[in-house]
Amino acid sequence: MLTIGVDIGGTKVAAGVVDPDGRILDKVRYPTPANASEELADVVALAVRELRDRRTEGDCVAVGVGMAGFVDEDRATVQVAVNLGLHDHPLRDLVQERVGLPVVVENDANAAAWAEARFGAGRGSDHIVCVTLGTGIGGGLVLDGKLYRGRFGVASEVGHYRMVPFGRRCPCGNHGCWEQYASGRAW
Ligand SMILES: [Zn+2]
Repeated sequence: MLTIGVDIGGTKVAAGVVDPDGRILDKVRYPTPANASEELADVVALAVRELRDRRTEGDCVAVGVGMAGFVDEDRATVQVAVNLGLHDHPLRDLVQERVGLPVVVENDANAAAWAEARFGAGRGSDHIVCVTLGTGIGGGLVLDGKLYRGRFGVASEVGHYRMVPFGRRCPCGNHGCWEQYASGRAW
């Protein structure tokens, strides 16, 4: 049984076919659309369709989408993705109706933490903390072998923990967030 993983970044949408051992069997990438709110689901669906067309029909049974942003606890709606300009965006349903497979949307650092816990540096550990450093700072927590999302699904968004009281303004709406001081975008 295979799944398709999609990583939505600020510049590219990368998608791959993954087997149950975490191996990537095939991949494609597309540029992230400039107007993400309108066309993002179309591009994700295009990538999924291309990968499915190369395999035996019925091989791929679900799609997981990872993206930098606050994703709600139902893993359906992107609450805020500052780099893509998305607010309250129902990405899961938009992708699901285009590809006809079950879809889960997850914060990209949560997805990275889960992958490290299952197949990477955290294998064999019950608890892991994963910090991803890129344009911003992402974080994921695996506690007792489960991904911990917290009350609103954003417990491990360490990049938006306030490090400096009354500090620099962050596009998330707060001031003094860690990623305004120590990420690829920090100045
Ligand atoms: Zn912030």
